[in-house]
Amino acid sequence: MTSLPSSADLAADHGWATVLAFGAHPDDLDFGAAATIAGLTRAGVAVTYVVMTDGGAGGFDAEHHDTITERRHQEQRDAAAHLGVRDVEFLGERDGYLEPSHDVVGRVVEAMRRHRPDAVFSMHPERDWSRLQRSHPDHLAAGEAVVRASYPAVENPFAYPELLTSGLDAFHLRWLVLYCHPAERTNLAVDVTGFEHDKLAALRFHSSQHPDVPKMEAFVLDGMARAHQQWSTSGEAGDVVPVASGGDGGRRYAETFQLVRVNDSTTISGF
Ligand SMILES: [Zn+2]
Repeated sequence: MTSLPSSADLAADHGWATVLAFGAHPDDLDFGAAATIAGLTRAGVAVTYVVMTDGGAGGFDAEHHDTITERRHQEQRDAAAHLGVRDVEFLGERDGYLEPSHDVVGRVVEAMRRHRPDAVFSMHPERDWSRLQRSHPDHLAAGEAVVRASYPAVENPFAYPELLTSGLDAFHLRWLVLYCHPAERTNLAVDVTGFEHDKLAALRFHSSQHPDVPKMEAFVLDGMARAHQQWSTSGEAGDVVPVASGGDGGRRYAETFQLVRVNDSTTISGF
């Protein structure tokens, strides 16, 4: 059995002090990465959320649908605050209509250059055919926009030149951490044992999205437990680190990602 790295291990091993985390809708980041994010903030990493759409097409309550955007923004702020996330930015794109257009990519580049993070979390641009609900078109568009921004636009001073003019210099992003991905893309499993209840707490704040909270919580906990079992047994995702204790009754939990090294000291690139 292989021990999986914790969030603190990741931050220490890769030198992550700041993380910028993108999601298409309010609640996407919390479903995909809340336990890992909680571990990062606990380790002292400064995390900022960027939610790309207004969430206006979500929820189940037709009677109060005119206020759904404001409600979902507050739900996301509350969930992020619980996890220790420093700030939440909303790009305000229309829910259900997100496309990786040059306008949207430019807005992502603007956010990246303003924050200059050590790592960017993003949804995955590829469709998961084993569970189509993960691959809402906005999720794919969000992933594509962030990946396009990551190379070449954020590091090319001649891309979106108005950003350079306004003082936002190009920089080389080192790490992309993709969540909501097809299972076959997994190359990183993070041991989030001890943070599983922070994830459930964050998700409970998104009350407009959960018609059945116990069912949702069981689904999420079971998924994290199965991920830990699968990846600690296969030994294919993550580095070997000392085994830590913790978890409910010895149960251990993981969140999985595709980790992409965008730039390091050996990278050669052109535009
Ligand atoms: Zn979503």
